[in-house]
Amino acid sequence: MHPSSTSDARIERHPQARFHRVILKISGEGFCPPGGFGVHREELDRVAREIVDVHRLGVQTAVVVGGGNFLRGANFATEIGIDSATADYMGMLGTVINALALQEAVERLGVPTRVQSALMISRVCESFIRRRCIRHLEKGRVVIMAAGTGNPHVTTDSCAALRAAELGADALLKATKVDGVYDSDPRQNAGAKLYESLTFDQVINQRLKVMDVSAIDVCQQHRVPIVVFNLFKTGTMRRVALGERVGTHVGEP
Ligand code: UDP
Repeated sequence: MHPSSTSDARIERHPQARFHRVILKISGEGFCPPGGFGVHREELDRVAREIVDVHRLGVQTAVVVGGGNFLRGANFATEIGIDSATADYMGMLGTVINALALQEAVERLGVPTRVQSALMISRVCESFIRRRCIRHLEKGRVVIMAAGTGNPHVTTDSCAALRAAELGADALLKATKVDGVYDSDPRQNAGAKLYESLTFDQVINQRLKVMDVSAIDVCQQHRVPIVVFNLFKTGTMRRVALGERVGTHVGEP
């Protein structure tokens, strides 16, 4: 039977699993080699394996995908001289492409999924409906959220924060290219210091590059902790879900 048709794929929660329900934020850059464009098989499969490893812990898993491997609205609007809202809608469509590719890759690994889009594309996937999304998660399906918030002038980070709040997620797990949040860019400064934990206020006041300020603000208001970790170190996402002290934890003091 095709995994998508499995009606109930609930998995008993691993005794050490720290979370009941998480939002995973995967940037578009996770789907291609560094500096690359589009979706590449090796990277796609790696992301899918990491997600499935979290799902197999019995943690309800919703994934917000970015689209930076296709285009980022702000840059693209200037580059080709189009309206910034139009460019943002194009960026959102890029996230839909990633979501569909990820759906196939996760289902190849035997896990049922649903794609829910914030823009209506009814021939391709469901629309995001909060209660329906929760139902899928309860049934053990991985939900992949496409098209960000459906509104221009924001990013998929804000989408991840908003979805974490409305879906009652225990945490927002943000996958990045580096090990967590640093006091300066670790790719430019070999002495950059990695923070183990930070408060929301520290992130905002010190303007640390975790996510957009609006995303941090939503997480703070709704008490959703954030864990920033390295997507490119195999098994890290699972370790985060098991509550190990990897990456940077952002939360209340
Ligand atoms: N975008 C948008 N509204 C949203 C989410 C995304 O307008 O709610 C557009 C925006 O142009 C953004 C692009 O989609 O630059 C890709 O998303 P993002 O930059 O967040 O992707 P990532 O950096 O995570 O790959």
